[in-house]
Amino acid sequence: MEQVKLYDTTLRDGMGGPGMSLSVGEKLKVVRTLDELGAHFIEAGFPSSNPKEAELFERLSELDLEQATIAAFGMTRRRDRKAEDDEALAVLTECFAPVVCLVGKSWGLHLEKVIKVSAEENLAMISDSIGFCHMRGKRPVFDAEHFFDGYRDDPAYALECVAAAAEAGAENVTLCDTNGGSLPAFVAGATAAVVERLGDGVEVGIHTHDDAGCAVANSLAAVDAGARLVQGTVNGYGERCGNANLATILPALQLKMGFEVVTPEQLEKLTQTSHYLDELCNMTPNPDQPYVGRNAFAHKAGMHAAGVEADARTFEHLDPALLGNQREILASELSGKATIRSQAAQAGLELDDAAAARAVERLKQREHSGYQYEAAPASFELLLRREAGSYEPLFELESFRVVTEKRADGRVETEATIKVLVDGERYLRVAEGNGPVNALDRALRGAIADRYPHLAEIELTNYKVRILDEAHGTGAVTRVLLDSADHEREWGTVGVSENIIEASWEALVDSLEYAFQPRDDNGAK
Ligand SMILES: [Zn+2]
Repeated sequence: MEQVKLYDTTLRDGMGGPGMSLSVGEKLKVVRTLDELGAHFIEAGFPSSNPKEAELFERLSELDLEQATIAAFGMTRRRDRKAEDDEALAVLTECFAPVVCLVGKSWGLHLEKVIKVSAEENLAMISDSIGFCHMRGKRPVFDAEHFFDGYRDDPAYALECVAAAAEAGAENVTLCDTNGGSLPAFVAGATAAVVERLGDGVEVGIHTHDDAGCAVANSLAAVDAGARLVQGTVNGYGERCGNANLATILPALQLKMGFEVVTPEQLEKLTQTSHYLDELCNMTPNPDQPYVGRNAFAHKAGMHAAGVEADARTFEHLDPALLGNQREILASELSGKATIRSQAAQAGLELDDAAAARAVERLKQREHSGYQYEAAPASFELLLRREAGSYEPLFELESFRVVTEKRADGRVETEATIKVLVDGERYLRVAEGNGPVNALDRALRGAIADRYPHLAEIELTNYKVRILDEAHGTGAVTRVLLDSADHEREWGTVGVSENIIEASWEALVDSLEYAFQPRDDNGAK
């Protein structure tokens, strides 16, 4: 089977999307998740534009990845300057990433209006820069920016640009529809022309944007025409209308076009990966997203559901299990129980039939009221533990109160008072904090620290709030996601309420309780 490679650019091009922002720790989570999904290349950005990027690259260099190769991203050399004298190229070739992706021009309009260089100088910029990276031992990828607009304008010159990169040692030449306005038939024709011109020596890639609603179609058309690497982002994050959505492209390539992209086991992680990335990016997963959306295989009761039960092919274009997604009809009760049992087994818990049924029911109710467990596996484990009868509460709450006072001089002070019972003994503590959640956290820890000294090692590492206004007729609710860590592990918890303090409290209590549940191994996720 012929192979097509995935080149994910969530951490670079995807970050151009509105509201996209990830910490270094979150970016590393994205990288690990994409590696588990089977992405071949992960583009991490430019290695040294700011301290955050520098830290990212340092930590990436220490990461042990299964199969993904990290790519650093930069530009061809500046005009009228030798490649070896270009500081940015020096940074790129000195960073640890084996693959270096250089973006360069291939459209006369940009040469004339934007960078103001001659057609010859642009060719020299491409070939010098790619040659320099190649000579320094890097595997260069050339991103031909605006390639399709350039090709429309002057096909011969656009082809010369990609040929210059190929001759200088590019491992891959990727054709970019940077403005996102091209249509599939045109993309296919232009890609075929490049494949023919470059021959076997260099792989051709495709990078599209969704401004005409055709990013996925254009990527698939390019593969049909001979491209063997697809750049994009999971869930299609990106500037304007977004990049090509790899979560749609991957199953199409593998299940419909017959290419080998990832293993079947990796493909089963697709739905989970898509939702997890949405949670990390603080986006609401699109329920109608092809293949991975919650509604992608949901059937209304009646004729459709009956048809699917008789033979799934009647109303489903493929088996949702291949993507780790689920059919949503009455019959899913059974598969729901099986899934929840295997999840419980992973946490070392045994659920009997009745407990599994209760857990499925509980999960449904909770999801209905706004809980999401993709980024909160610790809360999910606690839910299972409650049903399995192996849940041990840390304390019993009598009451808490939080007061925030803003003074005329602008100072804001917050104080929390908490009353809890541990093994029948009553503890009352007051603490100040820089906000209500912080004050509550300190008061609670103060109250139970004597009983649980390990608490001192638990740190809250991330706190995210989302207002869910799409909740089902109940008015807006707040969902809080909390990440915690000790020296060994990291875990996520969730809380939901109409009241932000209550939602935060719930996530906080889950976080601390999770850390103290009895377990044989350290098998936390
Ligand atoms: Zn792009």
